[in-house]
Amino acid sequence: MRRIDLIEPFRVMQLLERARELEAEGRRIIHMEIGEPDFPTPSSVIEAARRRLDTGDNFYTPSTGAPELQQALSDWYASEYGVNVAPERILITPGTSGAFNLIYAVLLEAGESVLLPDPGYPCQRNFIRLAGGEPVNVPVGPETCYHLSVEVVEREWRKQTRAAVVINPANPTGTLIEKTELAAIAAACRKKDGYLISDEIYHGLTYGIKAACALQFDDQAIVVNGFSKRWAMTGWRIGWIIVPEDLIDPARRVMQNIFIAAPTLSQFAAIAALDAQDEVEAMRRAYDERRRYLLAELPGLGFDIVVEPQGAFYIYANVEKLTDDSRTFCWDLLEKAGVAITPGEDFGSYRASGHLRFSYATSLENLREGVQRIGNHLK
Ligand code: PLP
Repeated sequence: MRRIDLIEPFRVMQLLERARELEAEGRRIIHMEIGEPDFPTPSSVIEAARRRLDTGDNFYTPSTGAPELQQALSDWYASEYGVNVAPERILITPGTSGAFNLIYAVLLEAGESVLLPDPGYPCQRNFIRLAGGEPVNVPVGPETCYHLSVEVVEREWRKQTRAAVVINPANPTGTLIEKTELAAIAAACRKKDGYLISDEIYHGLTYGIKAACALQFDDQAIVVNGFSKRWAMTGWRIGWIIVPEDLIDPARRVMQNIFIAAPTLSQFAAIAALDAQDEVEAMRRAYDERRRYLLAELPGLGFDIVVEPQGAFYIYANVEKLTDDSRTFCWDLLEKAGVAITPGEDFGSYRASGHLRFSYATSLENLREGVQRIGNHLK
């Protein structure tokens, strides 16, 4: 099979396209499938972008990023997590998606593999395949809060394994990994001469608990983060990756070739985001209110939430009481009740047909209407 034939579509986009068609026909659809903040980007970020535009300097930055943003992020790691990260280890990428494509291009030889949680963020598998590597989807369940555990990493690690991925808080489950487990996985990867890759894009969107940065346990962990979620900046396409010293040069060479540099305007605007604590906190509070609303309502409709999600803006529910085919269930719900939810199969294959993901990146008012429609539909 050719490599391109292994690349799967991002299936939720098909559901979204159908929802848009129904909207074009005049139906009001409640969107609980989209993993994108429904808030505007903080105003200080927009102001910073305007100021930057006025300077007339919107040319390439160095490939690894604007030194001003690298420094600002280095300072932010010190204040946010108490870790010292040299600015040159922080590589600025077009979204975290750019960071993942970069790191797999750097790390993987043909046939080398990466351990991923199933369910997990679906694009990961395809990033790995594009780099010629092999994603190894490891089933994870409520026992480990839907994360890889150190036992599983040690059991599944092979000669050709290069890394294990933790998404914390996780997409699609919104669950956090225990700090001791994260530390143990980091140590296990190191012992195997491989890497822990920690996707921290939902950091800051946690409720009642703070997520740990992998660098707090292991200076050599590879950390990926970005401005899309916490700072409501999806379309600005800015992320970053922190790599060990010896990977800076290989990564720089790949960056010079594959994207030259991340968007300059967005890089300078992003510096202002790091100071937008008040706006970020207001968004976080709103998400938490929505989360608590859904956690109170969904179980009564037959959606089992086995582990309480404490982060991101997702709830992963077991629907085995309602259906053995969550894909048909979701499509039916869209067509008949006008509510869009993502079926479990988008995130992997392990018990996928018995699960689905709610996103609460939409207003409380919309969520109330969605819950009411689902209730009526199920009656
Ligand atoms: N990682 C996870 C877990 C995500 O959910 C997403 C987007 O939904 C991304 C990475 C990619 O985000 P971006 O490329 O906008 O930074």
